[in-house]
Amino acid sequence: MNDFPTGVAMAIDPLVTRVLAPNPSPFSYTGTQTYLVGTTELAVIDPGPDEPEHLDALIAAIAGRKVIAILCTHTHRDHSPAAAPLKALTGAPIIGCAPLTLRDDGPRADAAFDTSYSPDRVLTDGESLAGPGWTLTAVATPGHTSNHLCFALPESGALFTGDHVMGWSTTVVSPPDGDMADFMASLDKLMQRDDRIYFPAHGEPVEKPRRFVRGLIGHRKQREGQILRLLKAEPRAVPDLVERMYVGLDPRLMGAAGRSVLAHLIELRARGVVAEDGDAWRVAA
Ligand SMILES: [Zn+2]
Repeated sequence: MNDFPTGVAMAIDPLVTRVLAPNPSPFSYTGTQTYLVGTTELAVIDPGPDEPEHLDALIAAIAGRKVIAILCTHTHRDHSPAAAPLKALTGAPIIGCAPLTLRDDGPRADAAFDTSYSPDRVLTDGESLAGPGWTLTAVATPGHTSNHLCFALPESGALFTGDHVMGWSTTVVSPPDGDMADFMASLDKLMQRDDRIYFPAHGEPVEKPRRFVRGLIGHRKQREGQILRLLKAEPRAVPDLVERMYVGLDPRLMGAAGRSVLAHLIELRARGVVAEDGDAWRVAA
């Protein structure tokens, strides 16, 4: 991981340049990857964390060209906080996902949200933005967060997948904003598309997208099956499920695994398959 090219502009497609932010972590892998789209006039996707070092790297990569738009896939703090300072530096409007108003029922999991995000224009599903030689179309993909968008670049056959599909790990779905039913529907939505390649915010490009997404859907169904088998044996609380399901997991990721297990349980409860019993969950009678 140490030789990962943080801050270096890497051309990965005739229309796409990638700049890695200096924010590696167990959750963000080597860090957030900001994408520059275009050649003469640019869009910037997921400007990343508000770190001077990263903003300097972006300004160097932009190299004096006009920035038409700053787009954000969603408003987790490793994705959108640099939007405002980059807007101040380039004059470009912030366009893309909606700001997020969190529901306040249930436990709050908003520590990682960027509440200062303030877009000039929100793109709804299917809306496009164009520059010289490129078009970016919003593909609404709620699940990881309720406001998550992917952006399609048809000139390259590419889809910028944000955190909906990542190149290094499965995506965390954390209730109440994260929603497993929405997430699965958003994976199905990608299966209906014909993208050539995915550029995720974390991890390497995904070169066989449909096969990859089919694998993710299978993985979630496998986790659901595991939960049901464990609950059929006896009622269990989330930490007990996580311990049995994620043997050998990095302890720093246990909390995140618990959020995804909870997201499965909430989805199963909505279908009448499981019920909550105090701290524990059981199969519905
Ligand atoms: Zn995220």
